[in-house]
Formats: sequence, structure tokens, C-alpha cells
Amino acid sequence: MKCKRCNRQLLDNESYEYLGEILCEDCYIDKYQASITACDPLAVHAATRSRKKLGLEGAQGLTDQQRAIYEFVKNRKRATRAEIMQTFNLSEPQMQAQLAILRHCQLVKGQKEGNQIYLVPFS
Ligand SMILES: [Zn+2]
Repeated sequence: MKCKRCNRQLLDNESYEYLGEILCEDCYIDKYQASITACDPLAVHAATRSRKKLGLEGAQGLTDQQRAIYEFVKNRKRATRAEIMQTFNLSEPQMQAQLAILRHCQLVKGQKEGNQIYLVPFS
């Protein structure tokens, strides 16, 4: 099995499916981020606006766990997805879902350094 974008050879547990394409983790995250930041500005806008309308700023209005993940990233300045999964005892899809919300609310963002992708505070 190979990544459809960069042609890297993949093991079973390294492959991710995105819109029917098999991708390596890096390409998956690139695509996933692009879909949120570039192709999905309305979702971000809606999330930001509805939070503003509700009078919510920063980490207000998040679940306890989302807030804890946000604080974790903020305090450490950066964290890997593996660290978040381990610290909060989350499965991969659970972690992705929580991070998607934090990204939509513009609290954290992904940042690539070398081969590693970190979650960092948004601003
Ligand atoms: Zn790839």
C-alpha cells in the first residue's frame, strides 16, 4: 500500500483514508487542515460567530475535556497528537473530533516542524 500523494510505502497502521484516498499521516493532516482552513472558512466563521453571539471568548463554552486539552497545549506551548491521546486517554477518532472543535474555534492550530506535526496555541 502506498500513499496516493507522496507515494511513500505504508504499513497498515500508518494509512489514513481521506475522501476515498489512502494517505500517509503527513498528507492526511495536510489535507485535513486544508479542508478546515482553506476550503471550510464558513465552518470556522460560523463557529467563531456563534460563540461571539453567545458571549463566549477563548476557552469558554467548551466541554471540560476540550478545555483541558486547550490548557494542555497552551501550557506546554506545543503538543503532539500522540501526547494528547496518551494524556487524555483518547482513541484516534476521539482525539481528532476534539481537535477539530478546538481548531474551529481558533484555539489551537497545527504546525509542522521537520517531520513532526505539533498542536500549538492559535495566536
Ligand atoms: Zn503521503
